[in-house]
Amino acid sequence: MSAVLPTAERPVALVTGSTSGIGAAVARRLVADGYTVVLHSRSSVAAGEAMAAELGDAVYVQADLADEDDRVRLVHEAAAHAGRLDVLVNNAGISRVVPHADLVAATPALWRELHEVNVIAPFHLVAEAEPYLRAAARDGHGRAGCVVNISSHAGVRPKGASIPYAATKAALNHTTRLLAVALAPEVRVNAVAPGLVDTPLTADWTAAQELWRERAPMRRAARPEDIAQAVAMLVASDYLTGEVLLSDGGLNLT
Ligand code: NAD
Repeated sequence: MSAVLPTAERPVALVTGSTSGIGAAVARRLVADGYTVVLHSRSSVAAGEAMAAELGDAVYVQADLADEDDRVRLVHEAAAHAGRLDVLVNNAGISRVVPHADLVAATPALWRELHEVNVIAPFHLVAEAEPYLRAAARDGHGRAGCVVNISSHAGVRPKGASIPYAATKAALNHTTRLLAVALAPEVRVNAVAPGLVDTPLTADWTAAQELWRERAPMRRAARPEDIAQAVAMLVASDYLTGEVLLSDGGLNLT
């Protein structure tokens, strides 16, 4: 827990998809670390507003990240809240379960839907946020702006809910590295690649839950707070950029 700074001096973090699951844990963790947080989701407005009220000077913004205009509005409303934007956590994402061998079920429409939300939207949000993130570095705040993308172990290994999902996360990992080079030294860009995390998204993924209990060295799926800790570590680490931090309880080792 950091010393509490006056509102105007507190750094600001926008966390997409932050009314549930991993995003909510990241938002709570960044508040505990001294950030003013901008919460966001596609549809759960009441939950977002209640959470914002609970988290002090937080604010909630609704936006559909499949919609280009909404993405632009989200970033500018987030930066307007406290007059700055220091951190962007691209957490919102969608998954579709399709057996990997069922190629016909992985339709072009499904590929496009996943690609729009999991790859194009995070890139577009970084592009819109770039001037604010650079300003955070320049205007005497003393630290680089920071982006953390939430990808997946499915983007690192040939695994995951479906081939299109895994491919979007692999694209996000590579985009992370490309942006790290393009935006340095004023903006750092990293990713966390979780394995299975206990969230509403995975509540009925019983086979994966069993796999993690039996095969992962840590013998369990991650809790959202475990991933939030990895995000907070990357946010706090002023020298790290271009990293994709696998956070799968060691499953990849077995
Ligand atoms: P979740 O379903 O609890 O949260 C997803 C969030 O994304 C929600 O807040 C939702 O509003 C938002 N979202 C989805 N589509 C959107 C859209 N079109 N516009 C705006 N917001 C949208 O899921 P979660 O498990 O917390 O997942 C968070 C991230 O972590 C995702 O990117 C997911 O791919 C990734 N991930 C999750 C797991 C896991 O096991 N849960 C594993 C690896 C990676």
